[in-house]
Amino acid sequence: MYHSTDDSKSRRMDAVRDRARVCMRCGLWESRTNAVVGSGSLDTRIVLVGEAPGRTEDERGLPFVGRAGKVLDELLGKAGLSRDDLFIMNLVKCRPPNNRRPKRAEIGSCEPYLVEQLEIIKPRVIAPMGNSPLGFFLRRYGLGRAVIGDVHGEEFLVDESWGRVTLFPLYHPAAAIYNRGLTEALEDDMERLAGLMGS
Ligand code: URA
Repeated sequence: MYHSTDDSKSRRMDAVRDRARVCMRCGLWESRTNAVVGSGSLDTRIVLVGEAPGRTEDERGLPFVGRAGKVLDELLGKAGLSRDDLFIMNLVKCRPPNNRRPKRAEIGSCEPYLVEQLEIIKPRVIAPMGNSPLGFFLRRYGLGRAVIGDVHGEEFLVDESWGRVTLFPLYHPAAAIYNRGLTEALEDDMERLAGLMGS
């Protein structure tokens, strides 16, 4: 599910996973099959943050393995990236019923897991995908309000406890399923994200 050359990072992420599995901080635990903490490299420079697990993710315990995941894999592949190069996770670890958007209180309950994950990975680039994770990070860094259609592909320099980070908003991959016109924007942004891999 995730890997690192540093055993202590894997152990810390295992501890997050184990706590999330039995978490009852909000009501989403009642309908979850699996808490989905994320997958990929803990040594990466880039973290992608989606909204919340869907049905397939809840069943399998992995992020972006349903329809939106297929789109994400295609986008990453076109940009010369693979899942193993990045860490992929969600704002909220448990599936909201009927795939509704997570509520602000649920996002707040889950925030300590997300923050701890970021502190373990210490990414140089955080790419929120879609409006829910975008809103969370804009609030976190005091950047006001914006919608993804206006700020996707922009780079915001922000300070984290481990140093300077680039916030790089992307459309959610599922947006391209419902609006083919967004595919080109997503492809362009993903290519630029790949360019940030080595920077
Ligand atoms: N959509 C998300 O935001 N996250 C997933 O893991 C799957 C679909």
